[in-house]
Amino acid sequence: MKLRKFFVAVALLTTGLASAQQMPDVPVDAGVRIGKLDNGLTYYLRHNNNPEKKANFYIAQRVGSIQEDDSQQGLAHFLEHMAFNGSEHFPNGKMLEYLQTIGVQFGRSLNAYTSIDRTVYYIADVSTERQSALDSCVLVLRDWSSGITADPAEIEKERDVIHNEYRMRNSPNQRMIERALPTLFQGSKYGYRMPIGKMEIVDNFKPEELVAYYKKWYRPDNQALVIVGDIDVDYTENLIKKLFNDIVVPADAAKVIDEPVPDNEQAIYVAEKDKEQQYPILLLSMKRDPIPAELKKTMAYLVTDYLSDLTCAMINSRFSEIQQQPDCPFVQTQVQDGNYLQMARTKDALLFICVAKEGKEIETLQAVIRESKRIHDFGFTATEFARAKADYLSALEKQYTNRDKMKNNEFANSYIENFLENDPIPSIEDYYQTMNMLAQQLPFEVVNQYAQQVVSVDDKNLVAFQMEQEKEGKTYLAPEAMKKATEAVRAETLTAWVDNVKEEPLIAELPAKGQIVKEAENKTLGYKELTLSNGAKVILKKTDFKDDEVMLQGEAKGGMSLFGKEDIMNLQLIEPAQMYSGLGNFLKSELDKALAGKQASIGLSVKEDRQYIIGRSVPKDLETLFQLLYLTQTNIKKDEKSMASFVNQMQLILQNKSLNHQLVYNDSLESTKNSGNPLYRLPEVEDIQKFDYDRTLQMLKQLYADGGQFIYTIIGNFDEQAVRPLIEQYIASLPAGKAVQTKDIRTFFKGEKVNRFERQMETPQAQTTEIWMNDNLAYTLENKVLLDAASRVLTRIYLRTIREEESAAYNVGCGGTIDNFGAKPVFLLTAQAPTNPDKQTIAEDLMLKYLKECMENIDEADLSPVKETMLKQAEDANRENGHWMDVLTEWTAEGVDLQTGYAETVKALTPQKISDFLREIVKAGNHASIVMMPEK
Ligand SMILES: [Zn+2]
Repeated sequence: MKLRKFFVAVALLTTGLASAQQMPDVPVDAGVRIGKLDNGLTYYLRHNNNPEKKANFYIAQRVGSIQEDDSQQGLAHFLEHMAFNGSEHFPNGKMLEYLQTIGVQFGRSLNAYTSIDRTVYYIADVSTERQSALDSCVLVLRDWSSGITADPAEIEKERDVIHNEYRMRNSPNQRMIERALPTLFQGSKYGYRMPIGKMEIVDNFKPEELVAYYKKWYRPDNQALVIVGDIDVDYTENLIKKLFNDIVVPADAAKVIDEPVPDNEQAIYVAEKDKEQQYPILLLSMKRDPIPAELKKTMAYLVTDYLSDLTCAMINSRFSEIQQQPDCPFVQTQVQDGNYLQMARTKDALLFICVAKEGKEIETLQAVIRESKRIHDFGFTATEFARAKADYLSALEKQYTNRDKMKNNEFANSYIENFLENDPIPSIEDYYQTMNMLAQQLPFEVVNQYAQQVVSVDDKNLVAFQMEQEKEGKTYLAPEAMKKATEAVRAETLTAWVDNVKEEPLIAELPAKGQIVKEAENKTLGYKELTLSNGAKVILKKTDFKDDEVMLQGEAKGGMSLFGKEDIMNLQLIEPAQMYSGLGNFLKSELDKALAGKQASIGLSVKEDRQYIIGRSVPKDLETLFQLLYLTQTNIKKDEKSMASFVNQMQLILQNKSLNHQLVYNDSLESTKNSGNPLYRLPEVEDIQKFDYDRTLQMLKQLYADGGQFIYTIIGNFDEQAVRPLIEQYIASLPAGKAVQTKDIRTFFKGEKVNRFERQMETPQAQTTEIWMNDNLAYTLENKVLLDAASRVLTRIYLRTIREEESAAYNVGCGGTIDNFGAKPVFLLTAQAPTNPDKQTIAEDLMLKYLKECMENIDEADLSPVKETMLKQAEDANRENGHWMDVLTEWTAEGVDLQTGYAETVKALTPQKISDFLREIVKAGNHASIVMMPEK
């Protein structure tokens, strides 16, 4: 086999070893304890204290939908649902009830997923204060492993829930993939095993059939427990032995056997159509065998991983450059490397995901085939390689810098991959050393050889899958035409790729420095405030939460309110206009190349009455971050080609926007909420012509040039002495400017609004949203806490009634937001659910009914777990830079301290207070109801 020989060759090259048998294993991290019970149960235990005093619990099963018989399609996933609906030690709804009392919220820190070849359950962020709570979580794992009750009455109730989930996930892509799967996977069971299964089986299977699947496949020899956190490893290991040792594996237990995906000698071309497909998508796969399992624990795997990373990075960079050519047939093409179609672990593939311009599907297919051939014939250039390597090393460095702050879930996920996929689990130190050495020593030719082997230039293992819109009068792509087009490209004679690079500094001439003229300290929130010579303020808060992170945010008054109706289209594209432009002397693509190896980025956000500049970097690239900030505020470079490629994408999305029910629904919702204001609506495709790039760049200048009007907040792991000169050089040097007058341009609805409409749909799915709005409340810590708590209490009640009791929706939630982008704060309480059309009115009635009930009376049992969760989440947030960014910016911009006294405010919540608050919200008399129904 070609590839295996290749791995060996690479290993020899890099390690200088005499023979493949001596290829060294990747050492296993000494920080994890791995063990196996006599019955075959594997466990991974690790002590870790990030986040502090928390632990995560997982059980990974080596089985999924591929183990189902034809008559069982959908049962693996159904069983996953039953795991939460009654088990040996937690009958009926006791599991969720108990876990809530220890602050574990279903959906967020308690969940599971079923895929084709695995099923994973987890409980995350459990407080380690009480050992008894941890013991109970291990008991939950034990129940999941072998104690699921699968009570017939509960099964009956769950059938509808699965239908709701099926409806919710049934997109046009999903439908076409399902239809094409048997051809894409010809000769393999993978063609018939989508985890969601068949609804006729979900509706009709007998409970004993589910139990049969359960008993056959959920066994200790197919399972691994993973527990990571602030735990006592010895104690936990003993507990596992005590709780799991007695589970017996029958002597004749069925074996988990890999399902192969055959090679195809002839290319496979599949074309599918769907009435609701918005734009053409091409999935082009170039299949190959994955690295053999026994080599996965060796250095050969890390080498391959590196080669694959670099290859994808270089291909993606080429395609993003091609995309900016006006005659490019696609609006986007990206490549990834991994399991074939992200489904089959027994076959790997390069997967090109392409969004074609309408009518340019064939040319898009040809473009990918052509570039693959170009890579095959000529390889990459040395400058492309140098950039990809620099990016790789810089990302590796970032990971290494943060090695002491690795989170529980990051460790756990790597152990799950080790159990299921044999992936190596070296310590970060070992990994860093090894990869660094590899990257330094692997010659460019090896990378080229690898890339040339994985791209395909003939029929073998090529699979092209085209998805397009079904429309009257349209001629569709035929597999025959795809085949012809492919063969035509293979006959072309190509020339080598030319990589144009600009070799000059980002800022040719540094601006005249300003100074820090005043300093003050805030002890309560722990920050330093600098006033600069141009009037700008800088808030500095140094933290040790993440060693590889510095966050920056600047904010000033102005925003969209400075512009009139004639600029609506420009305002809608003002953020992309910055993203797709260059800076200083650099066009967009030149800038991307110049930033190779740097971890620093800047983005903008323009709101109603203010504008933001948002940046992020690693400590070592702080100066680059400041340079990007300076250039973004003073010198955005027009890049017609790059901007045109974005406008093309927008046009493609907008021209068939009416086919996308979710887009249409969100548009109607925003329209009702904002009284039809076009600023909040999706534009029509012809409106794009009103976009004026020059004018938009001028508007950006107006909003951002006067840095003296901004307050900048910098949070994270920086050295203050190093950052001060950067502030003087790049922020204090910005023009001072004058304060501007802002207006309140928001147009929220008033009174009672009903927007109910019907649409023709391929899969009937209703949408329901209820909004209550109040603009007479003060923005205070207490009101913010009340709004949050009220929406969480309602979410609990809605999930219990609308989802669990009535099966009217797969998901339902309530959220609270405070909109502060105008003269006064606007409080919004929003209940939302994608609903079963037959039960839409039930869902809507219950939303209203329980809001009303909560205005009168709330059960303590619904409030106390909410308080528990809020306190727990606040504790975690206190160790996040992003949280502090919110706290400090709300404090400096609004004068509201959302931090001091938070826990006390939550603890002091009572059912009475929340009922009073809800009455206050509703009293304003502003309620909107937006409902979308399938046409009958
Ligand atoms: Zn599900």
